[in-house]
Amino acid sequence: MILATMGEMTLKGQNRKAFENTLLKTLRRRAAGLGSWRIHAAQSTIYLRPLDDEAAAHTRTLYARCEKVFGIAALTTAAMCEKDLAAICNTAAAALAGQLAAVSTFKVRARRADKTFPQNSPDIAREVGGFLLSAFPHLTVDVHTPQLTVVVEVREDAAYVHGGKQKGAGGLPVPSSGRAAVMLSGGIDSPVAAWMMAKRGLALVAVHFASPPYTSPRAAAKVCALADILTEWCGPLPYYHVPYTACQEYLRDALPKQDYFTVVMRRSMLRITRLISEKEQCDAIVTGESLAQVASQTLQAIACTDDAQSLPVLRPCIGMDKNEITALARSIGTFETSILPYEDCCTIFTPPHPRTRPRLADVLALEEALPRLPQLEAAAAEAAEFSLRMPQN
Ligand code: ATP
Ligand code: MG
Repeated sequence: MILATMGEMTLKGQNRKAFENTLLKTLRRRAAGLGSWRIHAAQSTIYLRPLDDEAAAHTRTLYARCEKVFGIAALTTAAMCEKDLAAICNTAAAALAGQLAAVSTFKVRARRADKTFPQNSPDIAREVGGFLLSAFPHLTVDVHTPQLTVVVEVREDAAYVHGGKQKGAGGLPVPSSGRAAVMLSGGIDSPVAAWMMAKRGLALVAVHFASPPYTSPRAAAKVCALADILTEWCGPLPYYHVPYTACQEYLRDALPKQDYFTVVMRRSMLRITRLISEKEQCDAIVTGESLAQVASQTLQAIACTDDAQSLPVLRPCIGMDKNEITALARSIGTFETSILPYEDCCTIFTPPHPRTRPRLADVLALEEALPRLPQLEAAAAEAAEFSLRMPQN
């Protein structure tokens, strides 16, 4: 079976039950197709128990999925047995045989939540430790830095034995914090930004802008692949592919000052994302911007983009170095896809010297000179192609 510890959500007082139900719902969905599982919560632990052979055979698969579920602070596979010292000793020896054979030092840590259990925690630890020493003569006990800690938990319903919990994904269960539209490019930063906000419990809707024929179908497929990787963390992901060519060509041809091209284009992308947000009931927009990384991410440029529409723009990468963002991209599994060398619409028609300190007054005056822009933006939002990305494994 699998034992998972709930994280920060246990601090939520009154609302804790709602967070817990959200997490249980996610876990039950992730267990679908893996046999029959009983999944329930008690105190701050979630118990996932296989009810048939098919489920038992899929324990590793479900475990790997649980590692990517936000709201879980720590997890382990565990064996369950009746609350009897002999049963606990035998279960520990059998269930952890592989792990015990692979190490030379260990210790036993016992926890007794059921105070009616006859032995106290130190007694349980001593008994189980002694039993394992005689069953695995190559072992020695090291209480300070053991290679393996055997954990015995005597709870209300049963006893549980495992080899120590590993760190889970952390954060809050999706969708406990609301819903936001993430502007997803094929780059390194925006998938990381999406992941960071999903970790805080936001349900996401992905919005991607493409400008064919300047951007290729392969570039679009790459962004879909990134969205698919994100679904393993955040669940089914509504995805909008926005045809942006007409807007972009209009800006290229009609914008009087080309050094303002990037900032005006970014404002236009945000307005379109806002239109999709209204339809999808999103209350914020997420981007992968990082302060001063490029010309469009200076404080002045950000001020100009923020003015384009009224939803809050969440930029979780804003204070991160590229190295830090890259490390995170590697650990969440998006990096290898992000570095595939396809073009993005943000990098076409860009002026050789974009304004690093655009002035909002100038931006507003320039947009006055672009009468067709609102209509083109509405048409792009309207023509956006919808698909629902689903977790593959
Ligand atoms: P990324 O690595 O996420 O592409 P970046 O450093 O390349 O970011 P920009 O190209 O300036 O920076 O884009 C800034 C942000 O704007 C991106 O993080 C993303 O949120 C959004 N964005 C850029 N291009 C697109 C696109 N084609 N579709 C949707 N959003 C985009
Ligand atoms: Mg980019």
